[in-house]
Amino acid sequence: MAKRDYYEVLGISKGASASEIKKAYRKKAIEFHPDKNPDNKEAEAKFKEAAEAYEILSDADKKARYDQYGHQAFENGGGFGGGGMNMDDIFSQFGDIFGGGFGGFSGFGGGGGQRRVKGSNLRIRVKLTLEEIANGVEKKIKVKRKVQAPGTTYKTCSTCNGTGQVTRITNTILGRMQTSSPCNVCGGAGETIDKKPADADAQGLKIAEETVSIKIPAGVVEGMQLKVSGKGNEAPGNGISGDILVVIEEEPHEKLQREGDNLHYDLYVSFSDAVLGTSKEIDTVTGKVRIKVEAGVQSGKILRLRGKGIPSINGYGKGDLLVHVNVWTPKTLSKQQKEFFENMREDEHFEPKPEKSDKSFFEKVKDMFS
Ligand code: ZN
Repeated sequence: MAKRDYYEVLGISKGASASEIKKAYRKKAIEFHPDKNPDNKEAEAKFKEAAEAYEILSDADKKARYDQYGHQAFENGGGFGGGGMNMDDIFSQFGDIFGGGFGGFSGFGGGGGQRRVKGSNLRIRVKLTLEEIANGVEKKIKVKRKVQAPGTTYKTCSTCNGTGQVTRITNTILGRMQTSSPCNVCGGAGETIDKKPADADAQGLKIAEETVSIKIPAGVVEGMQLKVSGKGNEAPGNGISGDILVVIEEEPHEKLQREGDNLHYDLYVSFSDAVLGTSKEIDTVTGKVRIKVEAGVQSGKILRLRGKGIPSINGYGKGDLLVHVNVWTPKTLSKQQKEFFENMREDEHFEPKPEKSDKSFFEKVKDMFS
């Protein structure tokens, strides 16, 4: 489904000021708020859509990127896994926007009600070959995560009666003051353990090994972190699961060197092949290809195979494969070969006569980046 324009989502024009953007979002958020639209999937989708639009447009840097590139600017960025933001992200990030005027929310933070406890995140490293990076890959990975132990039951916290908050009234010289703080018996969750099996920890959780399928888009880079929402450690009671943070590692390739989205390949050709011309098979990330090497090729020549590099993570096309020609000069020669080259020393065909097309290495590098 095509994504709607963020300005259209919030019903504002491109020139809207920061306060207009905020006002527009607040209006949409209240209209589609889950408390007002219980069990209404469409309202929930609209609520999320508005939050996403606000997340981008309320941030000057993200807004500038969006204005320039549109949705492409954020593909594979925040909303990895297709889930986008979840409701808790929205409330924890933008909860303050509802401050005053709109009452607290059931089940979420923000307005000062009960908090849903979130399980901790898991961080895993995934090693990928260049081929996997170029084509995108789905990895099945075994993870050890905390899950609610079967047989664990929870009950409403008797200290805070399930509100997650403890209110205290103190007498001060200014009069009676009411303060509330998170309940320290249940940690603000509003629930405590009723029964748990022997192998569960204090929170009623135990370690389970699970296989998680992780879709990795093409074009990722070393050190990049992807989020798989809800696949981290579970939380006790009605809390929400943490996330898995996938850290990308790139395995070095035997023949190909990556530089951004471009790839480099060093091709060695014999002296004879350089003189006579030949064809050579080279490695690419999508298999081997045969390329033609013209007769009279110079060492340092770069052959550019367009689109044979790595796809851009943002979806703007693909990089190129740059094949660097290195002419291999023989180091040992037979007597006859030596004689042959001695005779060629003064030969006019062996005399270097560089033309414009035989640019020096530095000129070529300059061209590549211009
Ligand atoms: Zn409590």
